Amino acid sequence: MSDFQHAQLDWDAQGQPLSRGFGDVYFSRASGLEETRYVFLGHNALPQRFAALPAGGRLTVGETGFGTGLNFLCAWQLFERTAPADARLHFVSVEKFPLTRTDLHKALALWPELAGYAEQLLAQYLAVHPSFQRLVFAEGRVVLTLLVGDVLERLPELDARIDAWFLDGFSPAKNPEMWTPQLFAQLARLSAAEATLATFTSAGFVRRGLIEAGFAMQRVKGFGQKREMLAGRFGGQPQAAEKPWFARPPRPEGPRRALVIGAGLAGCASAANLARRGWQVTLLERRDGVAQETSGNPQGVLYLKLSAHGTPLTRLVLAGFGHTLRLLQRLERGHDWDACGVLQLAFDDKEAGRQAQLATAFPEDLLRPVSREEAQAIAGVALDCGGLYFPEGGWAHPPALCRHLAAHPNIRQQFHQEALELRREDGQWCAYSGETLLARAPVAVLANAAEIARFVELPLKRIRGQISRLPATAASRALKTVLCAEGYVAPSRDDEHTLGASFRFDGTDLEPSAEEHGENLQLLRDISTDLADRLQIDRLQPADLQGRAGFRCTSPDYLPIVGPLADSGAFAEAYAVLGKDARQVPERPCPWLDGLYVNGGHGSRGLLSAPLAGELLAAWLDDEPLPVPRAVAEACHPNRFALRRLIRGQ
Ligand code: SAM
Repeated sequence: MSDFQHAQLDWDAQGQPLSRGFGDVYFSRASGLEETRYVFLGHNALPQRFAALPAGGRLTVGETGFGTGLNFLCAWQLFERTAPADARLHFVSVEKFPLTRTDLHKALALWPELAGYAEQLLAQYLAVHPSFQRLVFAEGRVVLTLLVGDVLERLPELDARIDAWFLDGFSPAKNPEMWTPQLFAQLARLSAAEATLATFTSAGFVRRGLIEAGFAMQRVKGFGQKREMLAGRFGGQPQAAEKPWFARPPRPEGPRRALVIGAGLAGCASAANLARRGWQVTLLERRDGVAQETSGNPQGVLYLKLSAHGTPLTRLVLAGFGHTLRLLQRLERGHDWDACGVLQLAFDDKEAGRQAQLATAFPEDLLRPVSREEAQAIAGVALDCGGLYFPEGGWAHPPALCRHLAAHPNIRQQFHQEALELRREDGQWCAYSGETLLARAPVAVLANAAEIARFVELPLKRIRGQISRLPATAASRALKTVLCAEGYVAPSRDDEHTLGASFRFDGTDLEPSAEEHGENLQLLRDISTDLADRLQIDRLQPADLQGRAGFRCTSPDYLPIVGPLADSGAFAEAYAVLGKDARQVPERPCPWLDGLYVNGGHGSRGLLSAPLAGELLAAWLDDEPLPVPRAVAEACHPNRFALRRLIRGQ
């Protein structure tokens, strides 16, 4: 088992939670609500600051110790009551020991006044696994980024500018490991100019440590019986990012209008995230609707391909899985998606070894090893081996997700319009088909998979994949979970099972082929001969099968490509010195292509990565807290390829 743990709680006679590990209370026994309002909201002047936000303004709160989410819910309630309608609240909170959902439910039941907010938090409090977890509320007006893990590991990964700090996290006497100079240095690193800070403690070493880190601190009257607490303000300068090629580009000038090319998952997610932030978006699609190409498969699997070594891809997938799962809650379960679990079969020794490693590296509520008997009981069909079970996994119907994302009043969908050329004219990106102008906007997002290479130089390749649609039978309906080995098969949706998927590096057309249907049937036999018999596949002719083919668009390192684009020639020139010495960090600003962004390269796991990539893209564009660790955002950054080329001296 991993060292991840949920909070271990005891409940006192009044039904208040206590931490067994720390021997401390989560909030004041007298009145948690009033204490939060006094200490954290009041001493950060949030009532006044929320009310004074300009139209479209934003305030970012940072917190150490999410606990029961009481502080978050109180801040949200205050924001709702005082901030202008189109302002936004970002709340970033770190938590090493997240409460289980059951405990969270019980703890929040203490506050009837917050019930409406608590209910929304509980509905989204899913898959809170170690990584960054982004939860979106009130149509994006309130965004919570939960950093699951130790503050001293997670805060250094955060890229954000915090306007107001809530230093919670149990008393310094009971939790001395947290209240350290390293923590105070991180708070300073992440602070916006004049950021405020409040904490319930008045401990002298906390005060001195914060002063040392650059905060002007004051002792003020504490809440209730408490004599003193601390409040302060950051007096230092916000720190700039060190590498110009991964720095935040200047925010685009002019009206907040964007055009997005491609209406698959990546394009719809990009459009939705911008629209939610008040952008007017034109979504251009060459086909006659959204999700007509690779995102048009009837069932995609919520399948987590993880590594035990915490690679950027693994961390992206963990954050993306949670985000997608939360998004799917808004769709119709059973028809648009299902959380029926995913079983990855240990089909050979190598896979069994890999799974054994994963089982020790990740929490049990994310994945657990199951014996053959248990696997069969979960699956409802006979299997040759056990495997790894992901109880929160399942399948989704990507077109339903795309339609949901694209249905925003700020998004204008333009179908049958293929952008063949992009020109920058008068500070706007103009999408042309021949000499016909399709749309123009100061910002353009390329989300048209491998066709992105039509507009910019990026190393994208296409891998053809074909799925087969198998008519369900009375006997195949016994299948209760998604089964994966080299291929995958899902429980039936609309009386059909989706079976996939072939891999072809050479295929160039999208006509489904009988040969690949035949290959898929073999993948099914390898998963379960019992299920293959239940589906009566020996009676099926591959040539008669229905299916779809599409191109997975992947990058050489199999990570997606998400973020701002630079001019490749000027980039090579500006940073040529890296060819001689890769450790140099020239001071020259990156030659960005103003307002040009990309969201692509999602391969076969777009369901997990594309919606979160939409959040990441919007965070780059609107200069918001990044929804993933900095290192993951850099690993997905479009500039990584140009940088590697320079360093390799090519
Ligand atoms: N703000 C919370 C609320 O509104 O309910 C109460 C926070 S509670 C007093 C302190 C929280 O800090 C606990 O949930 C605890 O697990 C968390 N915590 C303690 N040490 C931590 C660390 N080193 N890193 C991250 N979180 C930590």
